[in-house]
Formats: sequence, C-alpha cells, structure tokens
Amino acid sequence: KNKEDYQNKIFYYDDKIRELKYWEQRLSGELDNAINDNQLKVYLQEQCDGDGKVIGAEALIRWIHPTEGLMPPYRFIPMFEKNGLISKVDLFVWKEAAKLLKKWQNEGNDEYYISVNISPADFYFLDIYKELVRIVEKYEINPAKLKLEITETLIMKDVESRLMIVEKLRDFGFTVEMDDFGSGYSSLNMLKDISVDVLKLDMGFLYKTKDEEKSRKIIGMIVQLSKALDMPVICEGVETKSQFEFLKNIKCDYFQGYLFAKPVSIEDFENKNL
Ligand code: C2E
Ligand code: MG
Ligand code: MG
Ligand code: MG
Repeated sequence: KNKEDYQNKIFYYDDKIRELKYWEQRLSGELDNAINDNQLKVYLQEQCDGDGKVIGAEALIRWIHPTEGLMPPYRFIPMFEKNGLISKVDLFVWKEAAKLLKKWQNEGNDEYYISVNISPADFYFLDIYKELVRIVEKYEINPAKLKLEITETLIMKDVESRLMIVEKLRDFGFTVEMDDFGSGYSSLNMLKDISVDVLKLDMGFLYKTKDEEKSRKIIGMIVQLSKALDMPVICEGVETKSQFEFLKNIKCDYFQGYLFAKPVSIEDFENKNL
C-alpha cells in the first residue's frame, strides 16, 4: 500500500471520530429538552407464556427526533452510557413504566408486569435503590410488577457493593432478571455470585451461526442449568415457529420476539392487549 492510501485512511478515521463527537455533543445537549418535549417514547414488546398468552412487556426507549426521525437505542444509548446521561433516560423510562402500571391497576388491569432495562452505568451514576423505591412509593405500585433487567457487565466494577444493591432490590420486592445471558464472557462464573429471579436468554447471537444444531445444544444446556438453579427462563429474539417449538420442548418458560410482536407504542399495546 502506498503512502497516500495510508493517509487517506487516517483522514477517514479522523472524520469518523469528529462526527461521533459532534453527535455526542449535539444529542447530549438536546436530551433535557427532548424529555420535556415528549420526544422520548417508551415502546412495549410483549412477553408471552408457552400458549402465546401475553404476561407482560419490556419497555424499550425510542427517541422521536425532530430532524432524525425515530432513533433506536443504539444511536444514543452507548454514548449516554459513557457520559452518564443514560441515567436521565432510564429514570424517565422507570417512571413512565410505573405510571403505566398505576394506570392499568386503576383500570382493573393488573395482570401484566413491565420490564425495564438498567444500564451498568446507572449503578455508577445513580443511587438505584433509592430512586426505584421512591418511584414505587410515589406511584403506589407493587414492586414485583416492575421487573428490572440487569446485565452481567454490571459486576465488572465494584462487585461487592453492586451485588448488595441487587440483593436489596430483591428484598424490597422487585423482580430481577439477568438480561442477555450468555452473550458476555463471565456468564457462568457470574451465576455463583449473583441471585436473580429470571434468566433471559438472547437467541440472536446463537442463531447467527450456520451450525444451528450446535446452538440448540448450548441453549438446551443453559435452560437446564437455569432450572437446576431454580430460575425460570425467558427467551428473547424468538422469530420463527420452529424456534418457538424447540424452546417449548426444552422447557423454556417464557418468550419474547418478533414471532409474537415487535415493540410498539403504548397506545398500540393497550389497544391490542387491554
Ligand atoms: P435488550 O434489552 O436485550 O432488548 C431486546 C432488543 O431485541 C430490543 O432492541 C428488541 O426490539 C429486540 N428484539 C426483540 N425481539 C426480537 C426478534 O425477534 N428479533 C430481533 N432481531 N430483535 C428482537 P432495541 O429496542 O433496539 O434495544 C436494543 C438494546 O438497547 C436493548 O437490548 C437494551 O440493551 C438497550 N435499551 C433499550 N431501551 C433501553 C432503556 O430504556 N434503557 C437502557 N439502559 N437500555 C435500553
Ligand atoms: Mg432488556
Ligand atoms: Mg436482552
Ligand atoms: Mg439483547
């Protein structure tokens, strides 16, 4: 490769970094106003049991941006996890979920729970326990109806104190779910230290392989392991009937994925399910 080629590449990466910095600064500066202006929307994706009956929903954030249109989480969450603004987004989502649970409860629909995501960064930037307890008390909801999805990366730092926070949340009555289980590196090792109520398995990464037979064996083992540890398993990313049948056969308990429904607006979820 000649020198010019090399220099072009350097300019290219410089541009990319500048562009990312620009976006980070721009979106960060816009967040407060976006929240006040109702640009942040909670979408809901159904979670079902083996009969396909809806049992709850996962809250997934969308930013309806005035110039960018509907922005999915990958456009802003990773940068907000680095600069701490994720805690503003998550507090917003937790409150919206609590508000909705309260509204459903008042309307006599108390069968569904709502799962919310907790970023590992929230453990650093927020007093999670205090904030969540305050929300539950303010909206007068049953904490068991608010499922907290944590990920294994939360224990990469301050392990002891973070495990204690999770324990306290469960003692208070929150349901805690280990999200994206199997996608990180510490998965198995981590299970001996942390106690959660539900294990959530992401099919996505296992099905990105040609050797589906092998993937199915791994999934089967994870489900067995989870049962041995008394944890029900929810599988996310279920896209086909054949996946659903297989997962039911190996005794997976709950399901989430495009086969059942995509994430939709609160209004659409209510129209379909209430
Ligand atoms: P996650 O928590 O693992 O959420 C599941 C993601 O998988 C969602 O993507 C969902 O739309 C997608 N999904 C569900 N079923 C299927 C399927 O059958 N096939 C495929 N291909 N995908 C499926 P989404 O909404 O784009 O969110 C991506 C990630 O962004 C989430 O992964 C979560 O880590 C993060 N996220 C979303 N909302 C929030 C939030 O409010 N707070 C925090 N901290 N993170 C969030
Ligand atoms: Mg999740
Ligand atoms: Mg997940
Ligand atoms: Mg995932």
